[in-house]
Amino acid sequence: MEDVISEIDRAFRSLRAVDLAPRLERGIPRWPSHPHLIIDETMNHAHDGYFCQGIVMAEHTGAHVDAPAHNHPGGQTVDEIDVDTLFAPAVLYEFSELELEAGQLITAEMVESYERERGVKVGSGEIALVNFGWMKRHWRCDCHAQWYATNAPGMAEDAVILFKERGIRAIGSDTVACEMALVDGKAVHSLGHDKHWLPNGILIMEMLARLEQVSPRNFFAAAPLPFLQGSGSAAASSRILYLAHRGAWMMVFGMRSIRC
Ligand SMILES: [Zn+2]
Repeated sequence: MEDVISEIDRAFRSLRAVDLAPRLERGIPRWPSHPHLIIDETMNHAHDGYFCQGIVMAEHTGAHVDAPAHNHPGGQTVDEIDVDTLFAPAVLYEFSELELEAGQLITAEMVESYERERGVKVGSGEIALVNFGWMKRHWRCDCHAQWYATNAPGMAEDAVILFKERGIRAIGSDTVACEMALVDGKAVHSLGHDKHWLPNGILIMEMLARLEQVSPRNFFAAAPLPFLQGSGSAAASSRILYLAHRGAWMMVFGMRSIRC
């Protein structure tokens, strides 16, 4: 056992961390019907002798996972997800260079040609990460923040089915609703949430930052916060971290703040 622990320790130290969570701050983009993120300086040094903030947020604030119960009554809730479900090898699908506009869709053919060109292919039990480059281009926290959350490229149904048929355990993207393309708040479709992914236990992760720093083949790790009977989990006080070295990457949630 000791040898295994030492091996894990050595592997961890050889990796580089990348924080995949956008900073949680006033005004960050949110799904339009979800509550704002509110951060209140509840206690401070001058008044109380110590500093502690109160936080009001949606389960789907910032980088987060959608549980099946989000769209399906009686579906698995976030506290029922095994803590290591989101620890798995992952493949990055990098589509930033296409500079897709809101409403445009990635197709199965585009996914397969990316795989041929890059020599990577997400497999059974693994995690697919799709970077549209949308967060890098459009994320902002000022009075125009909501444009990011009401407009997005997405995935055609054949791409949604392709990922399902690969047997993935989860899929994530840098947009507000993963496969769901949006134009001025109107969804093109939500066939991953409604039909192909969540009903089949494939978890969805949204608003992942800095995916452009991730290698095509990587190792991903995240642990949702166990809200009782929750529809999803943001990383309220946690950070998503990505560790990388020679093509192997790892992401973890944790209270620590490791920077790359
Ligand atoms: Zn969500």
